[in-house]
Amino acid sequence: MDKPFRKTGEPSISESPLHPRRQSRRIMVGPVPVGGGAPISVQSMTNTKTANVGATLQQIAELTAAGCDIVRVAVPSQEDADALPRIVAKSPIPVIADIHFQSRYVFQAIDAGCAAVRVNPGNIRKFDEVGPSICKAATDAGISLRIGVNAGSLDKELYAKYGGPTPEALVASAMKEARMFEDVGFHDFKISVKHHDPVTMVETYRLLAKQGDWPLHLGVTEAGPAWQGTIKSCLAFGALLAEGIGDTIRVSLSAPPVEEVKVGCKILEYLGLRARHFDIISCPSCGRAQVDVISLANEVTNGLSGITAPIRVAVMGCIVNGPGEAREADLGVASGNGKGQIFIKGKVVETVPEDRIVDTLLKHANAIAEQMKADGLVADQSSGPVVVPVVGE
Ligand code: SF4
Repeated sequence: MDKPFRKTGEPSISESPLHPRRQSRRIMVGPVPVGGGAPISVQSMTNTKTANVGATLQQIAELTAAGCDIVRVAVPSQEDADALPRIVAKSPIPVIADIHFQSRYVFQAIDAGCAAVRVNPGNIRKFDEVGPSICKAATDAGISLRIGVNAGSLDKELYAKYGGPTPEALVASAMKEARMFEDVGFHDFKISVKHHDPVTMVETYRLLAKQGDWPLHLGVTEAGPAWQGTIKSCLAFGALLAEGIGDTIRVSLSAPPVEEVKVGCKILEYLGLRARHFDIISCPSCGRAQVDVISLANEVTNGLSGITAPIRVAVMGCIVNGPGEAREADLGVASGNGKGQIFIKGKVVETVPEDRIVDTLLKHANAIAEQMKADGLVADQSSGPVVVPVVGE
């Protein structure tokens, strides 16, 4: 079925400024390429009941607006599997069905038009018997799979052999699964080897990256609430992406999924792997500050949270570094004596009292954003890096 996929209109970023990307083979998740030098995609997973089609589609729309490229939905029951065709038909981004235990849901997901299926061969009943049929169905439908292991679901034999979910054990498990698929001639899969500890996770992916050219899905599993999980994800993804390892990422947070997407997008932006969007440069403030920098920075950030234009705004507390930073940004304020000097592209355009700084910055930021839009510099809808065709409704 033809579906209207979103079109970001943004230039794709495939190369890392820090390190050449690891050479991986390419698979497709619907229209989104993963691996083979494709831009790194951001994934998330809905936390609605999949069978609640309206709520799931609403959440997918929010994730898409935040920059999500690929969405995964859990399929633990027959009702969830039955809902897939309606979700796939209306989702603006490719849908991956996440399936454990029941192989019949895998076939149903493929028939529903899912772009990929996440399947864990270790917990699919009688996988030896159904594995080849899954591969054939996926090949016939032209879809890909994601396989791999989480530390918590490591097979008992490997757990005993390696004494726990060590990097070697996780990699051995992933390679065993990969061989199951490759032995029947199926190669369109990516692999994840997730662990909750960032150091173990990094070591595991490094080890796996050396064993083959599979595209790799990065994840720190069960990373925790937003604050801890964000730090763990930044550390682990940052270390691996800075070495060129990783083709698609999913930040896992005990928080609304849209927060995962925001974190994932920002990690890529700050590593130079995705076009920059709104960014704020603000000083920490110190004894020289002549305005309340912390409040100003928060108010400007909140006031511009919906902006999609790639504007850089500087909020500086005094005249030491203030004018320099404010000049380098698209828009900035350098404060002193209860006033703020407002800079646009390096030129002072006005000086306003402290209580008008926020409103003045927001006014100019919105005007700059409108101009960028008129100049065609702003993506249509979201911040995703992958340009995909808009096809018939
Ligand atoms: S810009 Fe001024 S107020 Fe801000 S940290 Fe630097 S010296 Fe302190």
